[in-house]
Amino acid sequence: MTLCRLLVLVVTLQLLMPGPLSSQPGVVKVDLVVTGGTVVSMDGARTIYDDGAVAVKGDAIVAVGPSSEVESKYVAAQTIDAKGKLVLPGFINGHTHVPMTLFRGLHDDVTLNDWLYKYIFPAEKQNVNEEFVRWGTRLAAAEQIRGGVTTFADMYYFEDAVAQETKAAGMRGVLGETFIDFPAPDNKSEAEMLAYTETYLKKWQGDPLIHAAVAPHSIYTCSQKTLQDTAALARKYHAPILIHTAEMKKEWDDSLKNNGMSPVQYLDKIGVLGPDVVSAHCIYVDEADRKTLAQRQVGCVHNPSSNMMLASGVSPVAEMRAAGVAVGLGTDGPAGSNNDLDLMEEIDLAAKLAKITKMDPLALNAKAVVEMATIEGARALHMEKEIGSLESGKKADLIIISLDEPNAVPMYDVYAQLAYALKGSDVETVVIGGRVVMRDRKLLTVNEEQAMAKAREYKKSVAASLGLQ
Ligand SMILES: [Zn+2]
Repeated sequence: MTLCRLLVLVVTLQLLMPGPLSSQPGVVKVDLVVTGGTVVSMDGARTIYDDGAVAVKGDAIVAVGPSSEVESKYVAAQTIDAKGKLVLPGFINGHTHVPMTLFRGLHDDVTLNDWLYKYIFPAEKQNVNEEFVRWGTRLAAAEQIRGGVTTFADMYYFEDAVAQETKAAGMRGVLGETFIDFPAPDNKSEAEMLAYTETYLKKWQGDPLIHAAVAPHSIYTCSQKTLQDTAALARKYHAPILIHTAEMKKEWDDSLKNNGMSPVQYLDKIGVLGPDVVSAHCIYVDEADRKTLAQRQVGCVHNPSSNMMLASGVSPVAEMRAAGVAVGLGTDGPAGSNNDLDLMEEIDLAAKLAKITKMDPLALNAKAVVEMATIEGARALHMEKEIGSLESGKKADLIIISLDEPNAVPMYDVYAQLAYALKGSDVETVVIGGRVVMRDRKLLTVNEEQAMAKAREYKKSVAASLGLQ
């Protein structure tokens, strides 16, 4: 063999040898692949891949499927092995007030009226400022990420500070500045509230994580004018409207007396309801109201812990779902009406509350409540095109849940395991918008120790401000 022939042979052999995967034709480079887990996609067909993978590029999902298929097409800068674990879309907490973490357990086991007027309103007046809101949000971000929440909807004051801290924690938020017809800790009049909120909405337009929203508190704390002004402002900027709706019997009775109709019909009559509204609670909603909510494409958020703790009543979740209303789940609180932000607890309680209320174990099943925490929660926030399921094109918000705990084995049915056996503390790894914010239970975006130390400090000043010690 001549030297020339040998050279040709060597070159030919090299061409035939497979090179590194990334240089092979048809293989796409991505940023992250989560592989080998049981992928509970929550897509339209509710596909579960027993040995599945999710490929992520930038902040979006580019592929979901069997591990072998995804791995043959994509090569990742970072790979997370999820073998023996569950991979789910991140949980959606559809209703809360995150800075109130610092009032956690301030005073419980009282009526809503006493809690509000004797404790919370005075405590807020004396303690809530921008700094308070920042620390409360940091603590809440740590707690929510630990429990697998990737998106939450919030209603509070100084919401721009909530937005900044939420973004810093790498979380997704629908964050509503609260309007209420009395001087709030941040803005003292409706004119000030409108000006603050308009600046806030403009500032966050187009942000990939923060959806700035407008939050008229309720029909019992806002006049018709406030409700209509806030809806108009929100619609000018295509912002969501968050509102407590039909959350207590008194609200229903007063609305019948003062408006001659139910809270839902009143909100509809004055032009507030629409496909941009997220209604928290929806407990007192009759058949006509459920029809209206469905027609107007209002999203509803069920908060079982809060409804039980305040003895508010039970939302007709199954009936709302049957009427075509999108119903998500929320923790409410985390003070007074539920002292934590554990959404997995709400998944469990939503099913059980429906069952005991109807004395029917079939009233709301495990799959339905997992839907409410994911894809239906996304629909309730009008974000189903963006989040709520693991599908190509959606934002890469996913969580990995350990199945290696005594409470997690054996597993016969994945939805039952999620609803009734697994806990928020079983969440190991959390990815939001393609960014790993918790890895193997280590928080990467929030200084948890510092936030907890600050919370203990606030306890002393808040208690002192109320003369509690
Ligand atoms: Zn609330």
